[in-house]
Amino acid sequence: MQKIYISSELPGNSVDRLRTKYDVLVHSGDRHPSRSEFLFGARGSHALITMVSDSVDEQVIDSCPELKIVSNCGVGFENIDIPYATEKGVFVTNTPDVLTETTADLAWALMFSVARKVIDGDFHVREGRFTCWHPSLLLGMDIHKKTLGIYGMGRIGTAVGKRARGFNMRVLYHNRNRNHEGERDTGATFVDFPTLLEKSDYIVIAAPLNEESDGRFGLDEFKQMKPTSIIVNIARGQIIKEDELAAALDMENIWGAGLDVYENEPLVDKKLKELNNVVLLPHIGSASYETRVRMVDLAVESVESALNGGVPTHLVNTEVK
Ligand code: NAP
Repeated sequence: MQKIYISSELPGNSVDRLRTKYDVLVHSGDRHPSRSEFLFGARGSHALITMVSDSVDEQVIDSCPELKIVSNCGVGFENIDIPYATEKGVFVTNTPDVLTETTADLAWALMFSVARKVIDGDFHVREGRFTCWHPSLLLGMDIHKKTLGIYGMGRIGTAVGKRARGFNMRVLYHNRNRNHEGERDTGATFVDFPTLLEKSDYIVIAAPLNEESDGRFGLDEFKQMKPTSIIVNIARGQIIKEDELAAALDMENIWGAGLDVYENEPLVDKKLKELNNVVLLPHIGSASYETRVRMVDLAVESVESALNGGVPTHLVNTEVK
């Protein structure tokens, strides 16, 4: 019987379907597998269903001589050694599209939380400090009619931009290449990186982690942004130099930040946690019931397809076909 290792318990019931045909081993519990647990569980598998926090490198791939597929439950795949998987003829798949709208919603949730001090307001009430209406209580920033800058306008960035129409915002974006379809869908204007920094009231980071995006936002960049601006990162933590963001927030180079992802997840810069002009979420961009079930369905379908001798859809390394 072919073996499938899944590094986390997953919502929905498509994993049950796998159990009827394959030897399925699932890492259970709230805690993610340690490296040695992951290696031990994955060893000898024909298919792996992995999460963003699993490092699938040469050692893992070599420990599974009959491995056919690494099915990553998420759209990012920088946790997988793609060139090595390709060299070994192993399919790598991801779960794009199904999480686009949900992740875009969370970008907006962060924009609102920071701009309108939603979290502070909740604490204010719970802690019994709401004693009267006050004209200068918890003043925030408007969102409507402001300028939204999108760094990385692909699927998620476009979905973020589309929502801006309802708020009468001007939308700017910066990619490595122009996205004409995205421009049509959002009305966004392509700008160079310095213009994005200078002109935006809100910057939403929605680019994948790659050589050019790694560490792209640091103190120099925050100093070029408006002191009233807010930055939101729903992409990958390494795109922002976290200690430099903490310094910029502390010095009020920018007004606020909303983060779903971190440089060294699950660790979060200590200084950031002490600041009150940042909202911190635990990487829940795609975390709605409906979307997580769709992501799992897609990840499972890819495994079934590969183990049945087919070519899965959403192949990242198309060279393996
Ligand atoms: P996508 O459709 O591939 O879009 C990415 C966009 O970023 C493309 O338009 C791309 O255009 C642009 N881009 C790539 N590198 C760039 C760079 N260095 N500078 C500026 N723009 C760049 O991907 P997606 O589905 O929207 O997902 C984007 C990322 O969001 C994923 O890779 C993942 O890391 C993250 N994500 C996070 C969560 C979460 O839970 N927080 C959930 C889903 C996804 P060019 O190639 O022309 O530059």
